[in-house]
Amino acid sequence: MFRYYLGFLLLILISCTNQVPEFNKEEAFSYLEAQCDIGPRYPGSEEIVLCRNLIISELKKFGASVQEQQFNVEVNGIEYQGVNIIAGFYPRMSRRILLGAHYDTRPWADKEEDPTLHNTPILGANDAASGVAVLLELASIISQKQPRQYGIDLVFFDMEDMGEYNKNETWCLGSSYYAQNFSGIKPEKAIIVDMIGDADLEVEMEYYSYHNSPNLVNEIWDVAEEAGFKEFNARITKRIYDDHYPLIVAGFNAIDIIDFEYPYWHTLEDTPDKCSANSLYVIGQTLLNLIYREK
Ligand SMILES: [Zn+2]
Repeated sequence: MFRYYLGFLLLILISCTNQVPEFNKEEAFSYLEAQCDIGPRYPGSEEIVLCRNLIISELKKFGASVQEQQFNVEVNGIEYQGVNIIAGFYPRMSRRILLGAHYDTRPWADKEEDPTLHNTPILGANDAASGVAVLLELASIISQKQPRQYGIDLVFFDMEDMGEYNKNETWCLGSSYYAQNFSGIKPEKAIIVDMIGDADLEVEMEYYSYHNSPNLVNEIWDVAEEAGFKEFNARITKRIYDDHYPLIVAGFNAIDIIDFEYPYWHTLEDTPDKCSANSLYVIGQTLLNLIYREK
């Protein structure tokens, strides 16, 4: 009888340690709201500094090693100092996953119909608070339970969103700097999340991601399908030049999880009411399932 109980206890213990943690969607959404409460967070503003401080203080609270990677760039004849925030969990683990999101918001609502609004900064609830919100909630969870196989690096990119349409090289300045100055062993997987808070979420397979890293794209879509997340659609969609692109050029196994079908993109209507906690959950839980699953 005693042996039976012992075996039973052991079984419970094993199943507990193998369990994938649950993503807390309310906490994640509160990170989205906290960023929007600061206001528009564009390069050169006081608000982006407040947002940066929020991200860094949360990461430090969760015990991550935090590095601020500074770089200088010129946009429209104005010099900016950008700062990428790089956070590491479990540095001794040699197998690593990089998760990235940009935290700057576009200074210009230039997709508004009314041209007099084009120089007004956007609030950026989906673009980019949603990605940061998912990463911060993941930081909280990862700090509490070490994944068996991977150390995790979270990178919060600056200066993604000051580009000129149809001029690829003017976008993603923070991730370009990061990729070009990266040294050491590359992570096994690099996953960017951007614009994943849309209440009407549908994520298709982004073209560059699929063509560079079909295995990683398929792996994530399979993980999402196993969880029953219908928001992931296994259809290859158009080319989107996002923070994964400079990583691909630098030889990373990098993909982008993005829902580009968002009618409020680069308008003053990109506000928290267009986003949902459930969308953050679908993305966050998929990433947790990927990180913690046994294989
Ligand atoms: Zn944008």
